[in-house]
Amino acid sequence: MEMNDLIPIKDWDEKLSDDLLVMAGPCSAESEEQMLDTARGLPLDKVKVFRAGIWKPRTRPNAFEGVGSIGLPWFRAVKKETGLLSATEVANVKHVYEALKAGIDIIWIGARTTANPFAMQEIADALVGVDIPVLVKNPVNADVELWLGGIERLYGAGLRKLGAIHRGFSSYEKSIYRNAPQWQLPIELKRRLPNLPIVCDPSHICGNTTNLFEVSQRALDLHYNGLIIETHINPSKALSDNKQQVTPAQLSTEILDRLVIRQIGSTNPEAIHSLEEMRADIDGIDRKIINLLGERMKISDKMGLHKKQFGITVLQEKRWDEILKNRYSLGELNALSNEFIEALFKAIHQESINHQEAVLIDNK
Ligand code: PEP
Ligand code: MN
Repeated sequence: MEMNDLIPIKDWDEKLSDDLLVMAGPCSAESEEQMLDTARGLPLDKVKVFRAGIWKPRTRPNAFEGVGSIGLPWFRAVKKETGLLSATEVANVKHVYEALKAGIDIIWIGARTTANPFAMQEIADALVGVDIPVLVKNPVNADVELWLGGIERLYGAGLRKLGAIHRGFSSYEKSIYRNAPQWQLPIELKRRLPNLPIVCDPSHICGNTTNLFEVSQRALDLHYNGLIIETHINPSKALSDNKQQVTPAQLSTEILDRLVIRQIGSTNPEAIHSLEEMRADIDGIDRKIINLLGERMKISDKMGLHKKQFGITVLQEKRWDEILKNRYSLGELNALSNEFIEALFKAIHQESINHQEAVLIDNK
């Protein structure tokens, strides 16, 4: 699906423009005062959309599951006083009808819902003939097809004001992030759907407030179209996600004021020329890397034959452990992170095993 006729954000509503779309507001709507107090503190020159969860998907029951529909009119109060557009999460058909009835301006689909094609199809069916912008969060698991599938279902229902939200992916590995960003996945989504606006949710990626600025800046440098940042008038008292919310003042001074917006292209001929030179260098280096990898695999093929001849197993755990340790130190000497070296050598090692297996299976 090409989706060439998606509508750009600036045409979603007259209050929106080509500028970065900034959405801010609490994880959950808690009370009208909490909504209004938070909204009043936001820098209204930069923030155009007020976010708040009305229905909260929680991993375990008995946690705060959102105030429910009674909170919907609070968005109207916020809009009346500040002009902020409203955005909330919908997870089923009932939520869709209630949100539409309440005049919510933008809806988003949460990560747990995107992961469920039945739920996505039901929501898409409920939105046939409706013109509301819908943002689709990435599914909890790192599966770009599932993310695309959710977006395609909405597109199939006739929606054209569509966007994606990158909120990171669950992982078992310990990391500084609550949900690992795995930037390659949203980059792949952008490659497949270049017209689809994409918004970064640093709050759910970080799970705390420490790296919100860095993650937001990274998203901008990857040419994202917007940010959605959880902001609460009193974060430590928040009924959900209290560790990752910032105050409206922190949002301004610690994040938004510091962001540097870079242009995707330059019209300066000198800048274009030197960029082209650097790209040519990179192309040349990549060619060398691939040729070298080809040579490495030829040796693997030979080793496969050797192992076959002498009846040795393909996987040699001790050798693999030594390789990894040695490559970490070589990586460090070249300012390459252990994380990168590990991913790179796991891929190389897997390809090498595949080559050797092919030799072992061949003409048994
Ligand atoms: C949220 O935005 O508050 C939320 C529940 O997000 P996610 O679906 O990304 O977990
Ligand atoms: Mn939240």
